[in-house]
Amino acid sequence: MFSELRNRRSFLASAALTTGIACMPAIGQEKNGKQRFAIALHGGAGQSPRDDTAKAVEAALAKALDIGLDVLKKDGTSLDAVEQVIRFLEDDPLFNAGRGACFNADGKHELDASIMDGHTLGCGGVAAVTTVRHPISLARLVMEKTKHVLLTSDGAEKFADEIGPTIERVENSWFDTDRQRRALEREQAREGKQSRLGDTSSPLTTHDSPLTDSHFGTVGCVSLDTHGNLAAGTSTGGRTNKKFGRVGDSPIIGAGTYANNATCAISGTGLGEQFIRHAVGFNISARLAYLKQPLKDAVTEVLHKTLDPDDGGLIALGADGMIVMDFSTAGMARAAADSTGRREIKIGR
Ligand code: ASP
Repeated sequence: MFSELRNRRSFLASAALTTGIACMPAIGQEKNGKQRFAIALHGGAGQSPRDDTAKAVEAALAKALDIGLDVLKKDGTSLDAVEQVIRFLEDDPLFNAGRGACFNADGKHELDASIMDGHTLGCGGVAAVTTVRHPISLARLVMEKTKHVLLTSDGAEKFADEIGPTIERVENSWFDTDRQRRALEREQAREGKQSRLGDTSSPLTTHDSPLTDSHFGTVGCVSLDTHGNLAAGTSTGGRTNKKFGRVGDSPIIGAGTYANNATCAISGTGLGEQFIRHAVGFNISARLAYLKQPLKDAVTEVLHKTLDPDDGGLIALGADGMIVMDFSTAGMARAAADSTGRREIKIGR
């Protein structure tokens, strides 16, 4: 229906051009007649990292952006752009995804990821995987090769076994980094102190996060390709010191990840429990669909009026190529580019 509309607009625009009538570019086209594309990515919301880390994070975001742009400029698909960008970031120990994932309370890593195709609403996710080097690729295979949407833990590992060598496996310790071990030690010391003081409630919030020298580091990407299709994906190690089996929003379609060609593509980062509670991805999409809100307003409404201050951030991309990157934390590592030549890489405000 949407692509019919787009085709009709393209036809009308080219008809107007051939008759010499000045007109607006068709949906999906730049003024020069080229098909529009756009991409945005994030490397987690939270405190801004220290200067030396910030530089390295920005360099990694720039490379990731180029990987995605390369796919889109060659008329590749949004799904490929999203998967390749996230695979790259999963391999970078600076981010809390793949290598560099945070430790859970048992000193192990359990990784979550999901991906969604805005054209078909096909989607796939994996939660609490422990040996998969690129959880985003396994999530894509859940979407493409099963009739399910989310596989967890041992089941997801068995699925990876069935797929075979296309899905690279590693020891759980392969994800270890000193940076994340120190974060675990700090968090456990803080929780120990709280329980010694008799405060056992200790809800996991971003507000009292001890990661003052660090960004949270979840990674995500949203893309619009030259075929007019949106996609979104997110990958994370979750939260430092999380309890056994805890699953956040990143592998949950409609919470941390959502894409629908009729509305927008979203990838979130922050306090997963809040993003699940308020179905952040679907919530924003629904505001566009039902209330006809502009993307920016829908993001503001959910991020700043529904969620609590400091809960996190998100990247959003409209079907028309509009990019919104917003957060309620001190910073969010983020980058964006599109076919108009826009290019932006930032961490702080
Ligand atoms: N949203 C992720 C989770 O709760 C963490 C993050 O984005 O920092 O698992």
